[in-house]
Amino acid sequence: MQIPLIKFFASTLGLGGTKASPYPLSFASDLNNPENLEHPVLYKVDMKPPGWFHIIGNKTCGLENVFSVSYDKEMKEKGLLFPKARSRDKPVAIIDGKITGLNKSFEVYEIDGEYIVSYPLSPLLEIPKHTYVASNYLLTVQKDLEKIPKPIEDDIREINFRNRGAKLILGFNEDDTYYAYKPDLKESDLRKIVDPNKPPHEFIDNKWIDNRLYKNIRGVYLPEIKRALMSQWVAIYGSEDLYCDYSESPQDIGGVALHEMGHAFDYLQPFMFSETNAFIKAYDSDMKAFSENRAKLEEKYGKDKINFWCSALRNEQETFAQLFCGLLDGLDKESKEILLTIMPSCAKHIKEIFSWYRVYL
Ligand SMILES: [Zn+2]
Repeated sequence: MQIPLIKFFASTLGLGGTKASPYPLSFASDLNNPENLEHPVLYKVDMKPPGWFHIIGNKTCGLENVFSVSYDKEMKEKGLLFPKARSRDKPVAIIDGKITGLNKSFEVYEIDGEYIVSYPLSPLLEIPKHTYVASNYLLTVQKDLEKIPKPIEDDIREINFRNRGAKLILGFNEDDTYYAYKPDLKESDLRKIVDPNKPPHEFIDNKWIDNRLYKNIRGVYLPEIKRALMSQWVAIYGSEDLYCDYSESPQDIGGVALHEMGHAFDYLQPFMFSETNAFIKAYDSDMKAFSENRAKLEEKYGKDKINFWCSALRNEQETFAQLFCGLLDGLDKESKEILLTIMPSCAKHIKEIFSWYRVYL
């Protein structure tokens, strides 16, 4: 039993001749058990010989302390869990993140006899000191950011997110995010922008109506500070709960980070891609065809979906961000299909911009 572990240890440190395969990772069966919501088990690692190692999400984290771990103490004492650490800065195990939808690997370190886990988070992420998010919320955003092609994120030769200082800020609620970075948004929210005739929030027919615009949005891009912002807690206009905590339904924010970074991409140059004559022309011709084919699309995909896309594509800027997200696979299959059917010329135009970055879709 010990031999493969020693071999694995050697190759982790780059001393062995063969490349060790990472430990497999699977979803924990109790992932969504409400009892575990305080410290949800995110992933479990299949050990050989059998044992257990769980990666636990922290309910409140910054870019550090994202994970806690729990493990079979007895096996660890016997030296059977992972090989013994040779130094604090060398991982004792690499755990493949693929099954979780993450592209990179977790690394397990042994420090002062205890295990800790780290994951290489996107350099585009920022969580200011005054706030925190839940780790599963953070990881959903991370999955989106991993879809951004490298030359757009960071390439010394190009105008890209790193060179332009574009970042995505995450925070707990609207006070920590939108209002903290742009206090006049709070003022405009208090002026009740959604419905000027109603109070800030009220409870009607078992539904919360929160009239404040920025309290109701999952993400925004602020060009003045070159920051996209996302809030974990969001009021949902006309919902049964006062707030929606997206750490409880992280799947519902998939794509939001890519959409907001799409706006950031639009602002990368001294001009906006979506304001060029070529893009406006493409937008107008797609919209003309859309209004001619709308009935057919409604028949195929349903009226509600087409209405949604009609408002999602209400101007050139939103269309640009939606396509950035859709082309990089931030949308589900059907939404992407509808988007590309409605906006073929704009999609072609954005693919051409991507090709300047040597990104070919
Ligand atoms: Zn937008």
